[in-house]
Amino acid sequence: MISIECRDINDLKPELAGYLSEKLPAVPVIRTNDIVLDPLTKDAEISVNDVHTYVKTFLERENINDCVVSVDGDKILVSTTSERRVQVKRPDSGLLECPHCGMVTPYKEEMDVHIRIHYFF
Ligand SMILES: [Zn+2]
Repeated sequence: MISIECRDINDLKPELAGYLSEKLPAVPVIRTNDIVLDPLTKDAEISVNDVHTYVKTFLERENINDCVVSVDGDKILVSTTSERRVQVKRPDSGLLECPHCGMVTPYKEEMDVHIRIHYFF
């Protein structure tokens, strides 16, 4: 299974996962330090090269140009070349509300995980 190690861009993980789910026949699973791509069907072929390309395209789209994306077996490593960690500014007061049941959370990551449960029923 292909994983994307993205400790250096932790704040962008939910966005990257969303982007990859649009581009690849896979369900991205967000973990503490990486994203694992779970193929949608057992026949779905996901190539490391495709993932590599999409991760780079995503970073370009987000105007992040101090990241290096490298491939190590079936692992993609995203690392920043500068000292700083990539930070995304989010509105402080922005509470997110689930459109299905009205659950409220300030954390987009938690909401992304939460919303997914509605699709299993
Ligand atoms: Zn809900």
